Amino acid sequence: MQAIPGELLTIDRRDRVNKPFNDLDLRSVAERIGDFEDVILPFSPERAMAEASHCIHCPDPAACTLACPAHNDIPSAMWLIEQGRFVEAAEIYHKTSTLPEICGRVCPHEALCQGSCVQNKKAGPVLTGELEAFVLDYEYINSHYAIPKGRPSGNRVAIIGAGPAGLACAEQLIQYGHEVTIFESKPSAGGLLVYGIPNFKLPKKVWNQKWAQFINAGVQFKPNTYIGKDESVDDLFTHGYSAVFIGVGSEIDAKMENTPGTDIPGVYEATDFLIRTNVEQSLLPANMRERIEVGKRVVVIGGGDTASDCLRTALRLGSEEVTCLYRRTEKEMPGGKKDRKLARQEGAKYKWLTQPVKFIAGPDGRLAAVECIEMRLGDPDAKGRRKPVPVPDSNFSVAADTAILALGYWPDPVLGKTTPDLETHDWGLITVKDSSTGATSRPGVFSGGDCVTGPDLVVTAMVAGRKAAAAIDKYLREKR
Ligand SMILES: Cc1cc2nc3c(=O)[nH]c(=O)nc-3n(C[C@H](O)[C@H](O)[C@H](O)COP(=O)(O)OP(=O)(O)OC[C@H]3O[C@@H](n4cnc5c(N)ncnc54)[C@H](O)[C@@H]3O)c2cc1C
Repeated sequence: MQAIPGELLTIDRRDRVNKPFNDLDLRSVAERIGDFEDVILPFSPERAMAEASHCIHCPDPAACTLACPAHNDIPSAMWLIEQGRFVEAAEIYHKTSTLPEICGRVCPHEALCQGSCVQNKKAGPVLTGELEAFVLDYEYINSHYAIPKGRPSGNRVAIIGAGPAGLACAEQLIQYGHEVTIFESKPSAGGLLVYGIPNFKLPKKVWNQKWAQFINAGVQFKPNTYIGKDESVDDLFTHGYSAVFIGVGSEIDAKMENTPGTDIPGVYEATDFLIRTNVEQSLLPANMRERIEVGKRVVVIGGGDTASDCLRTALRLGSEEVTCLYRRTEKEMPGGKKDRKLARQEGAKYKWLTQPVKFIAGPDGRLAAVECIEMRLGDPDAKGRRKPVPVPDSNFSVAADTAILALGYWPDPVLGKTTPDLETHDWGLITVKDSSTGATSRPGVFSGGDCVTGPDLVVTAMVAGRKAAAAIDKYLREKR
């Protein structure tokens, strides 16, 4: 439901359709590869108002709202922004989103809200993502948003994992009046917002501002606590928690099976590489504090967003030749086009239909080259994606002193193994009986985010956490 229905607005839609499109302003390539700061130049209030005035206010429900997994009321926000009512616009996002300042930056807008904007058929879409980030930044400076607290219910809920799913569940439970404790295996909260997504996409200061809101709302935080090893889910119930939410993500790097040389110095897994190059020392787990030595010639193996993040990080660390090796073609790449475009602008090269088969050490014992084989596209697999097939006798060598494996992620099976009656599937993904509630096979245990779906998006994990919070609230009230 739009707060400000487009049908009632007296606007000249033809005039809006014919307005010229101006894309986002980016820092120059030379400047941005010299640091890890945000790539996009923020809007001025005047630019934000002008951008929002491109919205033609489609009838309710608008395509952008439907395409947003959180169903943000984007048209109403656009109307308020157009009039300079930025704090009110920020309030519109708070109604449906726990992490609007983050989603405004990291969502693949071109595939979601912005991609569905009817203005794509004319000059270009309304820049909804950047406008969301703008109003939240404006609100942070000019107003003081606090997570509203509900009337105390007397219930305590344990949340395992402080990523987008766990955070969203926590934020909603606070509003329902429940006490929340988040158990997190790492030293800091944030999940992949801190220990994955690089600063040039999501400045850590934005995360720090967000986390302060949770602390101010009274969330209890237990860092460095690995549930399934340090304590079990059963222990949490014994300690008096009435319900448990599992939001542990899917963060185990996929391995490169049957490929000799992955243990050679200079070959890194993507998570290890990104964490050790992007996160400040004090927030690093003890086993990740040693600095990574990145060479001049870097190859990144994989085709997702993580691969783009690794390419762009290597370029910022001074590597001169940074190449992505991918076994299919660009058409089959799962990663977002926007990140790939930025990586290319910054100097990344792509080698398609290329599969590494061996990592080769030089005389100093460190990586010197990657032996590869050419691939061709064969028949489609079960998902309709054409399978890569090796071309016989097509081996060739790529000189490289650093290789980063960005091959995807698997769930950690530990909670399935240590929690009686908790059903899992596919190497440890948690089975939920109903995705609209996140209820698992174990009464009182709910789950959502990447540990249920496999690797996905910040916004989808956040939505799952919010839905589970509503179901936990219902469960606790019915249990009384
Ligand atoms: C490099 C990279 C870049 C990405 N870029 C984007 C992007 O630009 N846009 C986008 O929308 N998505 C992006 N994603 C995906 C997105 O980050 C995830 O989909 C999202 O973070 C999932 O949220 P989550 O809460 O389910 O899990 P996570 O963010 O993974 O959080 C899970 C948390 O649980 C903790 N944990 C795990 N096991 C335990 C345990 N047993 N006990 C206690 N704590 C535990 C973990 O330490 C972690 O803090 C990216 C992912 C990666 C890897």
